Parts: sequence; structure tokens; C-alpha cells
Amino acid sequence: MSVLTIKDVTKLFPGGTKAVDSFSLEVADGELVCLLGPSGSGKSTLLRMVGGFETPTSGLIAIDGEDITRTPPEKRPTGMVFQSHALWTHMDVAKNLAFGLKLRRLPADEIKRRVEAVLELVGLGGYGSRRVTQLSGGQQQRVALARSLVLEPKILLLDEPFASLDQHLRERLREEVRDIQQRVGITTLFVTHGQDEALSMADRIVVMRDGRTEQIDRPDVVYRNP
Ligand code: ADP
Ligand code: ADP
Repeated sequence: MSVLTIKDVTKLFPGGTKAVDSFSLEVADGELVCLLGPSGSGKSTLLRMVGGFETPTSGLIAIDGEDITRTPPEKRPTGMVFQSHALWTHMDVAKNLAFGLKLRRLPADEIKRRVEAVLELVGLGGYGSRRVTQLSGGQQQRVALARSLVLEPKILLLDEPFASLDQHLRERLREEVRDIQQRVGITTLFVTHGQDEALSMADRIVVMRDGRTEQIDRPDVVYRNP
């Protein structure tokens, strides 16, 4: 049963760039799919359309069979983690995580419970009262991930989340994020231009070029037939 359906989606920007071109994809429950491709191949635009930050020119995006093509981002069951994590530096870690839950008017004890649980999940148990600016780059990216997960989205959207980190940290976070993703069992779309990243994390890889699918397969098959 597929959780996410993208059908014949095209995005034409004013000026004439066709960023995404009749793109279709079905993503199964709990699957991690990597969108891999060179800069400008349409990966970000596609992800942003699933998250609701761009509207398709044509085509359909559905989650659990429900058309969400024109649903605004805050009403979609999606959580997006951006390249630059954009945490609120004037708030401590716990407040960053609680913010979205407060908007949803959850009771205070429930918020506390969920914030503590998600901090444990990302390996930052006990860091709630730290200021964001006191954390390392990798820790900040874990907070950004936690801030998405705490809202319990149906689909997690990651846009080059490790791009600003050094190679060593990137490799470690890859494993951590994959581990967390599998433990939570959350359906995930992961955008990267790094082949190693895609090969080591994905259940399936969509190789994109010029807004279209060039190849789609399991990592071992993509590796053998690049
Ligand atoms: P990728 O994420 O693979 O690097 P993008 O989705 O960012 O690719 O971009 C795909 C194409 O669409 C590029 O040619 C890019 O310049 C263009 N593009 C992206 N966003 C916009 C925008 N807001 N306005 C106009 N063109 C855009
Ligand atoms: P990425 O790193 O994902 O390729 P970029 O750094 O190219 O993204 O783009 C960052 C932002 O600028 C995005 O919001 C994207 O939509 C926008 N953008 C990208 N290309 C263009 C463009 N040619 N014209 C206007 N906006 C663009």
C-alpha cells in the first residue's frame, strides 16, 4: 500500500524553466526513497511540492489516497528538514521543539512528554535547556530533525540535511538518521546529490535528470548499473 503518490507532476516556473517534468512515483509505507541527481535536476522543487512550499503546474500529489496537491504546508501530514536548519536561536532546544505543539494547543504535560521522548530518540536526552547556539552543527541538525518528528508527520522530507557538515560527521549522521527512520518506521523522501549518501541510506533510489526519472531501483542495482 503506497503512502505517497506523485502522478504526472510538472512544475513550470515563470520564465519558462521546467524544473519537474511529468514526474510520477509511488512510495510505500515506511520506505526511504532518495532523490539523487546533479544540481538543477529538480529534486528540491519536487520535495517542496510534496511539502506544500511550491504548487505543481499540473499533476497530482496524494497522501494515503487523499489529494493534497493544494493543501497548505501547515495542514499537510508532512515534516520538512531543510539544508539550513533555521532553528530559533533565541529559544532553548526544548522551546524549539515545543513551538509547533503549542500551536496545536496540546496540553503542557503532553508537550513535555513528547519533547523529552524525541530528544532521547535523536540522542540529545537532557539537552532541552541548552541554547541552540551552544550546540555543534551536527547537534543542531539533530534538533532540526527532532523538531519535525515531534509533530509526528506521516512523511518526512529531508533536503540535503547534511550539506553544511564535514565528511566525517555526515557519515555518522547518515547512519543515525537511517536508524531513527527505521525505528520510527516513517516514510521518508531524502534529497541528495551525493551518490554515497543515497547508496548507504535508501531503500530505493530515484536518479533524476532534467526533472525526470532517469533510473529508479534498489541501491545494489543502481550501484551495479550506474
Ligand atoms: P535541484 O534541487 O536538483 O538542485 P531545483 O529543484 O533546485 O534542483 O531546480 C531545478 C530547476 O528549477 C533549476 O533550473 C532551478 O534554477 C530552477 N528553479 C528552482 N526554483 C526556482 C524558482 N523559484 N524560480 C525559477 N526557477 C527555479
Ligand atoms: P538547491 O540547493 O536545493 O539547489 P538553490 O540554492 O538552488 O537550492 O535555491 C535556493 C532557493 O532559491 C530555493 O527556494 C529555490 O526555489 C530558489 N531558486 C533556485 N533557483 C532559482 C532561480 N533560477 N530563480 C529564482 N529562484 C530560484
